[in-house]
Amino acid sequence: MILLTGGLGYIGSHTAVELAEAGYDFVIIDNLSNSKIEVKDKLEQIIGSPIKFYKGDVQNEEILTKIFTENDIDAVIHFAGYKAVGESVAKPIEYYDNNINTTLALLRVMRKFNVKNFVFSSSATVYGRAKSMPIYEDFEVSATNPYGRTKLFIEEILKDAYVADNSLNIALLRYFNPVGAHKSGLIGENPNGIPNNLMPYITRVATGKLDHLNIFGNDYPTKDGTGVRDYIHVCDLALGHVKAVKKLETAPGLVVYNLGTGTGYSVLEMVNAFNEVCGNKVKYEFAPRRPGDIDVCYACPDKAEKELGFKATRNLKDMCESSYNFEINNK
Ligand code: NAD
Ligand code: UDP
Repeated sequence: MILLTGGLGYIGSHTAVELAEAGYDFVIIDNLSNSKIEVKDKLEQIIGSPIKFYKGDVQNEEILTKIFTENDIDAVIHFAGYKAVGESVAKPIEYYDNNINTTLALLRVMRKFNVKNFVFSSSATVYGRAKSMPIYEDFEVSATNPYGRTKLFIEEILKDAYVADNSLNIALLRYFNPVGAHKSGLIGENPNGIPNNLMPYITRVATGKLDHLNIFGNDYPTKDGTGVRDYIHVCDLALGHVKAVKKLETAPGLVVYNLGTGTGYSVLEMVNAFNEVCGNKVKYEFAPRRPGDIDVCYACPDKAEKELGFKATRNLKDMCESSYNFEINNK
């Protein structure tokens, strides 16, 4: 049985579907701070059976102890945490508190119950301004904002925990830019308020909820002047977690993987691809660069392919179509 913390969130819910498809049992804990309980019903519709769910905070060791007592947990996938870069600058204490203390609580309870396998949602943000592209796992890490620093610190904490207990198996998964949604249109990315990220902003312009997209910067040294990122379909990303869980079953110790496609698309390429899918509904204007943004970021995905047998297969059209389909369904 696998414990998914934050399993009703965007990436956690898609991972739940892939785990179910691969035959894994799982249980979810989520405090609904950034998700809705309806996601549980949607997951049950997709999977076709009831889901075991605990509403609660991962910092609360009593509820963790209850979960570990009531379920035979042999691995934890830790998605729960706050993830908005801008908000983390305004609320660093909340970010350090939630992201780090959830991890520590899990490690303590795992130790109590002798659970050894842990998958952590890290991020490409830990590479900061990488020296060259593509980005390899052994590149230097750094952070430019409190959110990124929580990821960096947690990676360090997990490395220290592993040094102290070599019987732990830990996968640090560094996600590039997850986009897209499950083909059912039932689950997807549904941020509160005005989205910070590109794809949810585009979908809201396409459905008339927002007037136009501001493209932050058209003077970067890139193919068309706009920022380049490695967008990965969330269902591919979810599959990466199944592969990581399988890897941990072989007791590899602490392992680090990029989860990306290896291909960078510019903002304009994203907009154009989306416009083909939705019939030119995405208006845009060029705006100044967003402070803190980097020009280009894409992964070398080879290590995950070689060691996990993981390769993203869904293309840009799949990413745009599924995002649009989810947004229309949730209009
Ligand atoms: P999300 O906000 O959709 O999901 C996180 C879930 O965790 C939410 O359902 C929220 O309610 C829950 N949660 C937060 N704090 C909690 C707590 N203390 N106790 C219980 N539940 C709690 O985010 P997501 O996009 O699915 O991201 C999942 C993880 O992946 C996060 O750790 C995030 O930092 C990381 N990540 C995300 C991206 C991205 O672009 N989405 C990129 C890199 C890394
Ligand atoms: N972006 C943009 N307008 C928006 C949101 C994002 O032009 O409203 C650009 C941003 O500058 C970056 C790319 O889209 O080049 C991806 O941004 P996102 O915030 O989704 O991911 P991140 O920057 O964290 O990789």
